[in-house]
Amino acid sequence: MKSTIVVLPGDGIGPEVTEEAVRVLQDVGSKFGHEFTFTDYLIGGRSIDRFGTALTAETLAACKASDAVLLGAVGGPKWDDPHAKVRPEQGLLALRKELGLYANLRPVKPFPVLVNVSPLKPEKLKFVDLIVVRELTGGLYFGKPRGRDRVNGFVRAVDTMEYYDYEIKRVVEFAFKLAKSRRKKVTSVDKANVLETSRLWRQTAVAVASGHVDVLLEHMLVDTASVRLITSPSSFDVVVTENMFGDILTDEVSVLTGSMGMLPSASLGDNGPGVYEPVHGSAPDIAGKGIANPIGAILSAAMLLRYSLHLERESVAIETAVDQAVTNTLRPMDLGGRLNTRQMTDRIIAHIVSNQ
Ligand code: NAD
Repeated sequence: MKSTIVVLPGDGIGPEVTEEAVRVLQDVGSKFGHEFTFTDYLIGGRSIDRFGTALTAETLAACKASDAVLLGAVGGPKWDDPHAKVRPEQGLLALRKELGLYANLRPVKPFPVLVNVSPLKPEKLKFVDLIVVRELTGGLYFGKPRGRDRVNGFVRAVDTMEYYDYEIKRVVEFAFKLAKSRRKKVTSVDKANVLETSRLWRQTAVAVASGHVDVLLEHMLVDTASVRLITSPSSFDVVVTENMFGDILTDEVSVLTGSMGMLPSASLGDNGPGVYEPVHGSAPDIAGKGIANPIGAILSAAMLLRYSLHLERESVAIETAVDQAVTNTLRPMDLGGRLNTRQMTDRIIAHIVSNQ
């Protein structure tokens, strides 16, 4: 297979971890006989420095024309001024919107060898295998009106939470289809006791469920979900929720794996390329030291193979290699180990080779 992959390394540790994910993909390509072409473009802070915008039209066009996009992370103290007109995350939001990436998938499956690194008791982590489907292009982060004005001498700030039924329907449909290939349970998370958007969300979820009688639907308020994801994470299979709730809950469940550095994500739409990126940010505190955990980016590359290139065997080969490469003594530094970014990747690549 021949595929074109756009790489958007971004800022901070983004370039360090995407470089390793590309090395893994190159290894898989040569091992399984595929031709992957990689082209780098700027996004986020470095794009602002060079072009004055977080996402140029050229970068966007290259992403649209590609088979898949591999992204690192954006942002950092240099671009943190709250009064700045252009901000790194505008690049991400625009990319998601322009590519129609309405479903963000974040799988969470703790590695058995790492259960002691998690702040949760090992028995809580047994059988945890969940995936959060977060709505990505609607809700509070995009709703209008937004901004500030003055009312009766006071400064007022406004954000708007807005959802159309079709936006809810397509992401809940996505969650149900995903659940069919898993344990056939969907937990729809909302705040229907307070929010009108959540009442529409719940009503739409019920309508979608009627077309999938083999999948169990449960509703859960977001406050309850935030507790249950920690007290009984193994009871969840597919969790589907709106943009902001998903943003917060996915960071919460990332602690189950012991470190944010382990978690991958995929952002998908109906057509066109998906965007694959680790869940973590640009980690300015460790950037440039070569010690970042590359596993979130490498597992994102595995998701890229699965969801955009439909190379399931190759995707599983990476996941299995990661499983085997991380041991009690050999692990990245954020998990209490001593392997730097390059060494951790080398071990993973060695296991991909030895599996074939
Ligand atoms: P962060 O995820 O960058 O870092 C949080 C902590 O986790 C830090 O101590 C960091 O060193 C550590 N960490 C994160 N990834 C790691 C890895 N792969 N290996 C080892 N340790 C790792 O979150 P933050 O500090 O809140 O944000 C830093 C910057 O990243 C901010 O500018 C923020 O806006 C941006 N950010 C970007 C994204 C994105 O691009 N998708 C997501 C979150 C935050």
